[in-house]
Amino acid sequence: MTEGRIYNFSAGPSILPEEVLKKAQGEMMNYEGSGMSVLEMSHRSKVYDEIITAAEAKMRSVMGIPDNYKVLFLQGGATGMFAALPMNLGKTGTADYIISGNFSGNAYKEGKKFLKDARVAATSEADNFSHIPKQDELTLNPDADYVHICENNTIFGTKYKYLPETGNVPLVADLSSCILSEPVDVTKYGVIYAGVQKNLAPAGVAVVIIRDDLLGHAAANTPNVWDFTKEADKKSMLNTPPTYQIYIIKLVLEWIESLGGLEAMKKRNMEKAAVLYDYLDGQDFYKTSAAKEDRSMMNVCFRTGDADLDAKFVKESVTKGFSNLKGHRLVGGMRASIYNAMPKEGVEALVAFMKEFAEANK
Ligand SMILES: *Cc1c(COP(=O)(O)O)cnc(C)c1O
Repeated sequence: MTEGRIYNFSAGPSILPEEVLKKAQGEMMNYEGSGMSVLEMSHRSKVYDEIITAAEAKMRSVMGIPDNYKVLFLQGGATGMFAALPMNLGKTGTADYIISGNFSGNAYKEGKKFLKDARVAATSEADNFSHIPKQDELTLNPDADYVHICENNTIFGTKYKYLPETGNVPLVADLSSCILSEPVDVTKYGVIYAGVQKNLAPAGVAVVIIRDDLLGHAAANTPNVWDFTKEADKKSMLNTPPTYQIYIIKLVLEWIESLGGLEAMKKRNMEKAAVLYDYLDGQDFYKTSAAKEDRSMMNVCFRTGDADLDAKFVKESVTKGFSNLKGHRLVGGMRASIYNAMPKEGVEALVAFMKEFAEANK
């Protein structure tokens, strides 16, 4: 790690690979002989067109996105898409939402504004979102325009290990905090979308991967910048896109490729998460609430069971060179977000500190 940098466990915006930051630094003043920084470039220039074209091509090759899907880079973050999705997909105005945490609940609330009938197909709120609703908990409407899920619950530390069977109804999934952490079968989804600031780039872009047959149904009053069909026709450049963020997306995808792609990423992430979970499972000072079979590889939540002691943990962790370990206010306790860019050494160092702290405070 570069001198002076610390292990940043932020849930988002989050740690980026050092290799990517260094590459961006090296290209900052004069990008590939253009005489200017990517920050300063016209989005209509040939040199920038090559960047956005490469970002999309890399997204397709790394994720294995078939030709009958479009890849869009939009603004408004994942929250913007909570509104854009019903505007674009609401053919009959009915949709099913599976609520497994805060963000899927927010998507549902936003959907209600634009749909005639937004339904809750299942919710795990009763156990404070400590598990993912299973197939037999779902009451799905076969005539819905789509079924919405949030695949990794950033705040509660749970993740779908199966995909709901939705028949002919398109599955729409928020992958903000797990995109590119492991291989996915894109053909199982109608739409995959993600805010990029967890695993992909600095904040400012929502990536939308949408199957062609779902285009062309936007409500007439959909803003142009969120009309998926119009954006697809303009290759995400209906207006000025977040040019620098898209450039970093390209660099992050190249970094993933250089490490062996998503299979290799999954292996790394499983090993990293195991360092933390194996420790947590073998002791009783720290408690976890996420159901074991639904645990996230990206966001690991734990607590001592005593709010003052949790606060002490967070405070001390900062002095040891860790940042952003405080849990979300909805959950309390601690949360370590260990996205793709977090090295295994960071997780090992955290566990060493956790052991020390437990020893000193039990
Ligand atoms: C962070 C996050 C969001 C919110 O993303 P914004 O880009 O800030 O709107 C939505 N869903 C999930 C799963 C997230 O982790």
